[in-house]
Amino acid sequence: MLFPTVIAALAASGQLAAAAPQPGLRLVKTSEEDPGQWVTEEQKWELFKSKGIGFIDVTDIKSEKFLQRLSTKPSARVSGRLVDFPTELSHIEEANGFIASASLEGPQSWLSSLAEYHTRHYQSESGQEAAQWFFELVTEIASVNPAITVEQFEHSFNQPSIIARLPGASEQLVIAGAHYDSTTGSATSRSPGADDNASGSVTVLESLRVLAEAGFSPQSTIEFHWYGGEEAGLLGSADIFAEYSAQGKNVTSYLNQDMAGYSPSGTPTIIEDYSDPDLNEFMNLVITEYTGQAPNRDSCGYGCSDHASATANDFPAAFIFEDLTDQTSPYIHTPNDTPDTIMWEAVERHIQLTIGYLVEASYI
Ligand SMILES: [Zn+2]
Repeated sequence: MLFPTVIAALAASGQLAAAAPQPGLRLVKTSEEDPGQWVTEEQKWELFKSKGIGFIDVTDIKSEKFLQRLSTKPSARVSGRLVDFPTELSHIEEANGFIASASLEGPQSWLSSLAEYHTRHYQSESGQEAAQWFFELVTEIASVNPAITVEQFEHSFNQPSIIARLPGASEQLVIAGAHYDSTTGSATSRSPGADDNASGSVTVLESLRVLAEAGFSPQSTIEFHWYGGEEAGLLGSADIFAEYSAQGKNVTSYLNQDMAGYSPSGTPTIIEDYSDPDLNEFMNLVITEYTGQAPNRDSCGYGCSDHASATANDFPAAFIFEDLTDQTSPYIHTPNDTPDTIMWEAVERHIQLTIGYLVEASYI
């Protein structure tokens, strides 16, 4: 059911015309103004992804509020923020203790294994096998702390997302996430996806390993997410954040890790669009303290990664990218996005800032 004002707004922008389902096609949006275009899976690649145009697949989004948010510029939205982000850090010693036990040994091995799958395309068999292997890996790593639960979040497509949950004293949720699928355009073409986005996936997993082995008992509950179907238009994260919104979950902040392993400048970048300005200033403190680098600032456009799903469900989100967007890996979405192109000192910085973020944000 649409609210009358929503119907008027949609009719005015021509969106109702686009909303009649087209069997076998997917409805995608490339901007707030775009009423939606029905395309094939192949056209997602040809028209958008191969040209670097961001898009969101809205075919399965049921929430009118979510859809309305995707058609409204973030600057025109009222923030749903539940907490004020502090202007100074409070747990530096504790976080540095955890960071000291982080290592690249696991990440290097896990990234190689992920890249060995022929592709992790969300509609491929090897993409399902990678999902199962990664789920078992996360489960094994989390098992050192029996309080941590690991589950698969099922979607309408055959590549579940994975959620590990470290219970805190409160139900408030602090989340770090990364997509683990990959693409070079089809479900059968070779797509190692080392930087995009095995690098972010292993960054989040190493952060889990460190906090699990240290027996960290957080104030807020911490979740670690790995999404399927990101390359097809943020499918996994859209499902999860829509569900969290419907359930009234208190997500106080979300940190997205999409590409963490290629950084010629050696400086992480705060993505300033479709993210929360106050959380970004908090992340500026976190990055500066825990990596020793003052971050760059940049933007990445509509639907560029999973933080957009959190933002469009009114959850404060940040996206910390490997470098400025014009200095990023030239190999992504090609068969050459291989482990030998990874700059491991960049991954190390992202692990540091992710652990720093999780510890600091869990006390807010
Ligand atoms: Zn990508």
